[in-house]
Amino acid sequence: MTFPNPFVTIFDTTLRDGEQSPGCSMNPGEKLRLARQLERLGVDVIEAGFPIASVAEAQAVERISGEIRTVRVAALARCKPKDIEVAGKALRGAARPVLHTFLATSAIHLRDKLKITAAEALVQAREGVALARSLASEVEFSAEDASRTDYTYLLEVLRAVHEAGARVLNVPDTVGYSLPHEYAEMVAKLVRDIPTAVISVHCHNDLGLAVANSLAAIGAGARQVECTINGIGERAGNTSLEEIVMALKVRRETLGVETRVKTELLAPTSAELSTVTGVWPQPNKAIVGRNAFAHEAGIHQHGILANPLTYEIMTPASVGVGETLLVLGKHSGRHAVEKRLRGLGVTLTVAQLEDVTTRVKELADRKKFVYDDDLLSLLDHHAERRPTLIRYQTLSGNDVIPTATVEVEAHGQRRTASAVGNGPLDAALKATDAALGLSLELLDWHTRAVSSGKDALAEVTVRVRHRDQETVGQAASTDSIEASLKAYLSAIGAAERAIEVAA
Ligand SMILES: [Zn+2]
Repeated sequence: MTFPNPFVTIFDTTLRDGEQSPGCSMNPGEKLRLARQLERLGVDVIEAGFPIASVAEAQAVERISGEIRTVRVAALARCKPKDIEVAGKALRGAARPVLHTFLATSAIHLRDKLKITAAEALVQAREGVALARSLASEVEFSAEDASRTDYTYLLEVLRAVHEAGARVLNVPDTVGYSLPHEYAEMVAKLVRDIPTAVISVHCHNDLGLAVANSLAAIGAGARQVECTINGIGERAGNTSLEEIVMALKVRRETLGVETRVKTELLAPTSAELSTVTGVWPQPNKAIVGRNAFAHEAGIHQHGILANPLTYEIMTPASVGVGETLLVLGKHSGRHAVEKRLRGLGVTLTVAQLEDVTTRVKELADRKKFVYDDDLLSLLDHHAERRPTLIRYQTLSGNDVIPTATVEVEAHGQRRTASAVGNGPLDAALKATDAALGLSLELLDWHTRAVSSGKDALAEVTVRVRHRDQETVGQAASTDSIEASLKAYLSAIGAAERAIEVAA
């Protein structure tokens, strides 16, 4: 008796299909940086690029092939001799190369795009795969627009390319048109009809069904899923890697399959991609959106603090999110205020806490969110001790050396310093370090607009390391440098309090 394979191969195409999404293009150095992260994450295949597309694409595939050893590296090629040869060449240094070639099989693509007959496409696919097989130890064939292809013809093509040496047969829902039950039905028939192949799926999210279709296909026997970090990709994007992986993990009892992905690295990988591309997922994006583990309602906050499973189906730590973010707003209760203050190194008596919570709610009625700075300014007895920004000025432009002067108050003393930097923000942070006589490591900085329009508030979150303490600060202002400095000082204050407590 044979048991079905319990492992689903995670084929990551962030660097190929994902990179094709507007605003997400990456140079070879950026791709290599992400490939290293994907290798740490534990994906099985990294599709590194489409070498025929440009010299930089070919270089990216070559560099990744040369460095990434433990994960298979794939390169995409149309089913044309020249494309396949260029892809094969780019993969030459790879320890485990996968040459991925594709040809459309649907009537509309054959007739209107490729202008060839079904019989011609069959020959082209078989010959392309045979050539690819002579250049790489593993070949994957994709029948583009498979979900809109007549099944009898699809089966004929896939049988032919499997015989010609393609071990993995991918059946993309290229236009994001399928419904889960239809897609599963096609996959089930292929698993039955070509049992020696690995059936792979590649879904687009035009109807928001990419993950649902991929899950349905796995249920029908597909054992490879093509997906991307943050779900980036053509148009509405691809199957989101973090969502499919967590669905398989959280519902393992029901689905019965697993992946090799180290899920605690999902959030860091998402952040790394966003840092490289400058495109962040929407706040309510499952798993990696900034609100995915945020709870504002007081009832939810109390429940979460009592037992996270009351409102969470997975822990933030299991996907690499530091801690559940309790948003302080008018719906927040005492428990959330206490938790955030503890994060900032402040402990209060019950009476003090009641008082501060009331004031947080009053403040939240007037402004949408309550930031660290607001929270700390409600605590009179801490006000004089934490470092605060008195004023700053920066000089920047396209023909000047970015320079900043910062005046801060710390421990009852005002201190001023100036510095130059790579840009006005860098200069301002260096001036702050100089004024405080500290040298900190800035681990992470990111900003987002909290409101829209010309007077939008910029919200800045920074993570710093000061001696052994790693702390986070958050602030908002219509001026992003001011918000950055306030967030930075808030993180420094938290670190200093933590050091004091530890001492
Ligand atoms: Zn695609």
